[in-house]
Amino acid sequence: MSGSERTIPAPEPNPETKPFWDAAAEGKLLIKRCRACGEAHYYPRALCPHCFSAETAWQEAKGEGTIYSYSVVRRGAPVPYAIAYVTLAEGVTMMTNIVDCDLDRIRIGQRVRVVFKPSAGGPPVPMFTPV
Ligand SMILES: [Zn+2]
Repeated sequence: MSGSERTIPAPEPNPETKPFWDAAAEGKLLIKRCRACGEAHYYPRALCPHCFSAETAWQEAKGEGTIYSYSVVRRGAPVPYAIAYVTLAEGVTMMTNIVDCDLDRIRIGQRVRVVFKPSAGGPPVPMFTPV
């Protein structure tokens, strides 16, 4: 795989997402859960997208999920890659990449787990690989 790795642009943490990226640097995947309505959400926001409460708290996700949908990008990309929506065990869906696998063998419903990939000068980025 070396020599054909894709360069991952550095995320730009803001005050709302900084704890997420700090945790990513420690290999932890965080989501947020609302104390008012109990629902989890991703991406992390200060206000709950379900009930607009500001009583949201960070929660470490197990890092396990299933592929909800995906698309393999080959055109215009120096290295082909797979973009996907992964539904975590906690019920939230993340837009992410599927990595470290044969792109032709990715399937909807496949079980995946989180891996953190270095970005170009920023915090590592959570992506998923088939289990
Ligand atoms: Zn809520």
